[in-house]
Amino acid sequence: MDWINDCHVHLMGKEKPAEILRGMDKNKVEKCIVFAPIGKNDTLQETVEADDFAAKIQKSAPKRFYGFVRINPTLPGACSEIERGIKKLKLRGVKMLPKKWYPHGEEARNSYELINTLNVPMLFHSGILWMKGAMSTYCRPAYYEALYDYPKIKFALAHISWPWTDECIAVANRFWAGDFNRKQCIIDTTSGAPRIWKADALRKALSILPPDCIMFGSDFWPWHKDYRAYIEADFSIYGELGVSKPYLQKIFNSNFDEFFKPPKKARKGA
Ligand SMILES: [Zn+2]
Repeated sequence: MDWINDCHVHLMGKEKPAEILRGMDKNKVEKCIVFAPIGKNDTLQETVEADDFAAKIQKSAPKRFYGFVRINPTLPGACSEIERGIKKLKLRGVKMLPKKWYPHGEEARNSYELINTLNVPMLFHSGILWMKGAMSTYCRPAYYEALYDYPKIKFALAHISWPWTDECIAVANRFWAGDFNRKQCIIDTTSGAPRIWKADALRKALSILPPDCIMFGSDFWPWHKDYRAYIEADFSIYGELGVSKPYLQKIFNSNFDEFFKPPKKARKGA
């Protein structure tokens, strides 16, 4: 298997760059998006420390680690921390998980407004939530149609938004082939869905969407001993679906780099 890129890796806050890189080399992972660690209490101070940690990891090997600010946009001071993370720490994107706020609601819009000027992508949790005390209600994919109002933000929806995979594909399709006509929405294939749903969702997604808008993510750790099995599980699905090598190359490799380029029109003349 060729080297791959992984768009969805959570830092826990204690990792050493050398140990991560060893695991990445072993599993032939060239680049990873690494999210700042999740704080216990979701305070701004925790977020600042977490972003500093992500920046430290990124600085150790900037060609391989793409650090993301991880932020709750409802925190007072969220915008200044996003700005610090991108401008001062040079982090390369922003990760959000809607928890007690809606992606299309007023609370998040100041952050989107700012990110729209910073030329960095966003990655959202979408779909069912397993965290204690959190409700999945806020994470439905159709809410992300609001990102149409921020044309410079390319964004990825994690977990194919399971269990709302059809809705996720419809939203992506609206951006790529429908009236929104902007290559703005990417599907992050990070698991969450049990295999039977994941295989079904990928089959449907690839039947109507170009492979350009589907990107591999693990939501796992490339330095974990079971990481290889994890990738193989995804490959077995694509094998069953008869997905071609050039498509796989996009999904597992080149779409990662594309994610960092500004959105373009999907159809000419529209
Ligand atoms: Zn995740």
